Amino acid sequence: MPDVERHDYDVVVIGAGGAGLRAVIEAREQGLSVAVVCKSLFGKAHTVMAEGGCAASMGNANEKDNWQTHFKDTMRGGKFLNNWRMAELHAQEAPDRVWELETYGALFDRTADGRISQRNFGGHTYPRLAHVGDRTGLELIRTMQQKIVSLQQEDYAQTGDYEARIKVFAECTITELLTDAGAIAGAFGYWRESGGLVLFTAPAIVLATGGIGKSYTVTSNSWEYTGDGHALALRSGATLINMEFLQFHPTGMVWPPSVKGILVTEGVRGDGGVLKNSEGKRFMFDYIPAVFKGQYAETEEEADQWLRDNDSARRTPDLLPRDEVARAINEEVKAGRGTEHGGVYLDIASRMPADEIVRRLPSMHHQFKELADVDITAEPMEVGPTCHYVMGGIEVDPDSGAALVPGLFAAGECSGGMHGSNRLGGNSLSDLLVFGRRAGLGASAYVQQLTDKPKPSETDIDAATKTALAPFDSPAEGAGENPYTLHAELQQTMNDLVGIIRKEHEVRAAIDKLNELRARYANVTVTGKRPFNPGWHLALDLANMLIVSECVARAALLRTESRGGHTRDDHPGMNPDWRNTLLVCAVDPASDAQIPDVTVTPAEQTPMRAELLALFELSELEKYYTEQELAAHPAAEG
Ligand code: FAD
Repeated sequence: MPDVERHDYDVVVIGAGGAGLRAVIEAREQGLSVAVVCKSLFGKAHTVMAEGGCAASMGNANEKDNWQTHFKDTMRGGKFLNNWRMAELHAQEAPDRVWELETYGALFDRTADGRISQRNFGGHTYPRLAHVGDRTGLELIRTMQQKIVSLQQEDYAQTGDYEARIKVFAECTITELLTDAGAIAGAFGYWRESGGLVLFTAPAIVLATGGIGKSYTVTSNSWEYTGDGHALALRSGATLINMEFLQFHPTGMVWPPSVKGILVTEGVRGDGGVLKNSEGKRFMFDYIPAVFKGQYAETEEEADQWLRDNDSARRTPDLLPRDEVARAINEEVKAGRGTEHGGVYLDIASRMPADEIVRRLPSMHHQFKELADVDITAEPMEVGPTCHYVMGGIEVDPDSGAALVPGLFAAGECSGGMHGSNRLGGNSLSDLLVFGRRAGLGASAYVQQLTDKPKPSETDIDAATKTALAPFDSPAEGAGENPYTLHAELQQTMNDLVGIIRKEHEVRAAIDKLNELRARYANVTVTGKRPFNPGWHLALDLANMLIVSECVARAALLRTESRGGHTRDDHPGMNPDWRNTLLVCAVDPASDAQIPDVTVTPAEQTPMRAELLALFELSELEKYYTEQELAAHPAAEG
């Protein structure tokens, strides 16, 4: 067997985006030794790409804002399928997490009187997104890295070793989690550059690996987002929930083809940009769904008044939750009112002076100029839906981030529950901070109470080595499969058959195709040697994409209703009987297949605590809940 480099830590955090870094800081603050492993460069994660901002009810732009309103908006956005406890913790703790970032050195944009400025975003009642221009994620990552450096300097002062308690392993991909008697014992992976194999022994692992967008052709996600954490968790015995819910962000670039899918921040609409069809009509007024009737402006004048003063008018339907806007754009294009390249127009040019656009949206201005030769201060952008975010993820305990497997924790986009069937913009950055911290605390508490440290077996390490190197095995004559071909077929299948609008026969066809791809995967072969070999990397990522895509497709087939990021053409409308039902994906952890069979089982969630339920009007809940459930509402009890 080839050599395996070995390291030992108390906690291993897999992923160096916002959730991972916040978990690292917390576990180190608890006095533990922490490794942070990331498959891209340190500092290059999705979090760094986040543009619009971080939602927190600080009440700076409108003092009526509070955690209860943020909680209610989040539940509405998720169509009441959210894990309400996560939504509660998130709304309560987000303002503290934003303030805390400033103590690490972050500097958010300011109001004229020096408070943190907050911008409008879809589904948020008040301007709520703390931001740094349209480069908020960059500031988040920059300051958390700075905090990590300052902790390393403290460690140096105490021990003479900067890396005594926190060490970064960048460009290192984890391919397997190892267990001992069912509890986490370590993580196995490889260095992307040298191809060398590496083992981290640790009793606690925090997964913070982000999303799954690379299973789709048109996506805002970059190459790392192949659902690794989701698949690692499943294979180690944890469960996934809500995998049928994918967010198609309404505004991705549609032209030129080379940049199709790249995100156009919702901040454009938050700052006054409007959607128009090819007839120049602001069409969103035609798409206010029944559940939101009465909450959104019905005329252009009212919508524009709201932008000037959000207390004197109702909010613009351009800022409906993302699932609604994405479906509306889809409808307009289908009806022949789209742009030349199959999108709609997003117009900020006619809404404010050019210098103001450049000041507020510098990255968008640059992105369109460089990539599409469009000057957004003078002409509208062409935009359309792009696969952006997965609401589904690892099922965790809301308070500690613990997954079903002892010693396994998860936070951020790879965890599930918080956002229900649809995430509100800005609620991810705050989620990362709130639950990254909680997962760091949860992992630390777990490690501190252990008496015996689980140890991975040499048999399991050998098996992980064999699986990682399998793509180099020579295939049977004529049977070799190219990972790039399989990936392209997978992306097209998911895009066409399990995309924004779904139908039973199409999802069934997707599952058949996934089965075929899984069989062909057994013969996937790469050429060359282990040092930087992107074909090999993709071959390993592909197993994760296949397993996660199967979860998405199987859950999408079972859920016979339309809700949030899951639209079934053959089952339009929400069905209250489905509202509280989670679809739980699992595999047999004893299976040694790299892509084991997925089972999907319905499970009911714990009903919301009565005092939280009482925050909503009975008339609103009636749109979502069954009569039987509503009997618990204080107003119903009389
Ligand atoms: P990420 O930041 O995605 O980081 C994942 C980490 O895991 C990376 O370090 C990666 O290298 C590592 N990793 C993955 N697999 C492995 C493996 N096998 N081994 C080792 N390491 C691994 N949200 C908002 O709230 N507001 C916004 O304005 C906003 N704008 C966005 C703009 C864009 C273009 C995109 C793509 C997303 C945006 N989002 C926004 C969503 C938000 O940025 C993400 O949901 C969030 O950053 C995810 O953070 P995370 O910490 O969970 O993971």
